[in-house]
Amino acid sequence: MSAARSDVPEGGSMGKEQETGRGMFGDPREATEAALRREAADRGVSVEALRAEEPAHVREAREYAAARGLTLEAALAGLPTRSETPVYPTPDCLTPDQIADLAAGESIDDAAAAHLTTCPVCQRVANAAKPSEARWVAIRDRLRTELVEHARTAAHA
Ligand SMILES: [Zn+2]
Repeated sequence: MSAARSDVPEGGSMGKEQETGRGMFGDPREATEAALRREAADRGVSVEALRAEEPAHVREAREYAAARGLTLEAALAGLPTRSETPVYPTPDCLTPDQIADLAAGESIDDAAAAHLTTCPVCQRVANAAKPSEARWVAIRDRLRTELVEHARTAAHA
């Protein structure tokens, strides 16, 4: 019978911690339950109703998919995973300086210009960096409003 004794794992206190889930920061399951009870009380619903609800990140993913006319599964299948090699930037992609040059209406070198005709990501970045008439009008209107407001408060001071 003495051979069976060696099968008993050592470090009993460590095993007990894992068993109860109680670590240095308390029981995570108990903390989750407490948070659930708090939220249920705040929102005036039962803990059971709250537990049955879809988690926020799942709901957001579903809304993301719905907005694109996709099922959740199809939308998730289209998302890059961590293990995938990033497709952007490639070694040929435009540098921030080249994007800035484009936005300022300056020319970029031929290789960069050629890449721009083939890379949809660089095209989107370049387009996003372009000054937009609508954005400029919004900034101008806001500045006008602020200047008028400033002049008014300065007159009253
Ligand atoms: Zn590119």
